[in-house]
Amino acid sequence: MVVYAPGRTSQYPEIPPERGLRYHYLGGGNEVGNVGIVLEDPSSNRLLLDYGLAPTKPPRYPNEAPHVSNAIITHSHIDHLGMVPWLTSNHNTTLHGTELTAAISEMMWYDCHKVSSIEGYPLPWDKRDIDLALSAWKTHSFNKPWTQDDWKLELHGAGHIPGAAMLHVETPNKSVLFSGDFDTRDSQLTVGAKPVNSDVLFVEGTYGGRDHPPKKEENERFIERVIEVTDRGGTALVPAFANGRTQDVVMLLHKHLPELDIHVDGMGKRVAKLQMEHPETLRDPNALESAWRWCRRVSSKSDRKKALDADVIVSTSGMLDGGPSIWYLNRLRHNPKNAILLTGYQARNTGGRRLLEERRIPIFGKLSSIDLEVDQYSFSTHAGHQEIVEFATQCQAEDVVIYHSDPTMARPPLADALEANGHRVHTPENGISGILD
Ligand SMILES: [Zn+2]
Ligand SMILES: [Zn+2]
Repeated sequence: MVVYAPGRTSQYPEIPPERGLRYHYLGGGNEVGNVGIVLEDPSSNRLLLDYGLAPTKPPRYPNEAPHVSNAIITHSHIDHLGMVPWLTSNHNTTLHGTELTAAISEMMWYDCHKVSSIEGYPLPWDKRDIDLALSAWKTHSFNKPWTQDDWKLELHGAGHIPGAAMLHVETPNKSVLFSGDFDTRDSQLTVGAKPVNSDVLFVEGTYGGRDHPPKKEENERFIERVIEVTDRGGTALVPAFANGRTQDVVMLLHKHLPELDIHVDGMGKRVAKLQMEHPETLRDPNALESAWRWCRRVSSKSDRKKALDADVIVSTSGMLDGGPSIWYLNRLRHNPKNAILLTGYQARNTGGRRLLEERRIPIFGKLSSIDLEVDQYSFSTHAGHQEIVEFATQCQAEDVVIYHSDPTMARPPLADALEANGHRVHTPENGISGILD
């Protein structure tokens, strides 16, 4: 089943803007994830920025993209590249991004295809489209500009996850910075994003109105909890996203608790391997290498059984939605000495959210009560409210467009704070074009 057919459901304006620079959100304008942004000038120079889907239940897809010869993919999370195989198959689009983003894209697409088949949701592209998408990559290093007609384009490090980029576009009249998903704070894996002088800043506002607890305190709270669980003879199950979080958590454990026995399972193992092959994207490549040598990687059924005696198991899925973490939970749930330490946001309708709210979770189709201690830690690598506001000031942006943000809770307080600092603030909606001039 195809969700949309090419050329039929695109509501993108057919003619170029008369003046200025037009931006048009296919998705991600007034929501988190599901990103697709078209940028176009009066001479029909056109660019697509990201083309993802939101892995909700059911998934949300952006509006159909118009024909684009070039797309920039900021990073390898599914909400930014999940729809790309449709794009390359239907429009033969060239994909621009960092080498690491291109390298990780393959497993993200295969995984996305697998999940949609398991959950029975339609995907507008097929497995065969992945090969074409993979051959469409043209990779760029950070701070190495290239041109598209009279635009100069350049990728800058975005923090967030290794390989994540911000895009800087210089047109003859304006300079524009797209943050992608970004964080100005260093993480175990990455160096924080640095401001770039721009007339216009398109900034993600996931954490508008919310500030993160100080990183050091949150790390300590996590470490102390792990010590508590292992001291009483229990195993801490740490569900973690594969792309970024798994490696961050393993590095944190290695740094503070090198005496413990840590086992790692899930797709995060392959992601780590690719990250290590691209040391230029890492804050401290040696730290990842040695953490990775130190932990035990689960690679067989017998490894998995052995892991049940570990001090800590770090595993996907990060939201306890299938994956090995459910297999472990099913084995660990009968011993009250064990605990579950969640390391990220738990979306609605996921196992992790039900666990938090009802202390019950579906395990292999059967709703099961869980009497273990459950705790949640904020290891987000999105900039918090204060970081976003400071970043906009440092970029000296006259105009700020807030996207990738909840339009009722997160965006209004962020818009207020930015306006109070003298920026002209734009709050885009999907399907409606805006002009910058
Ligand atoms: Zn995102
Ligand atoms: Zn992301």
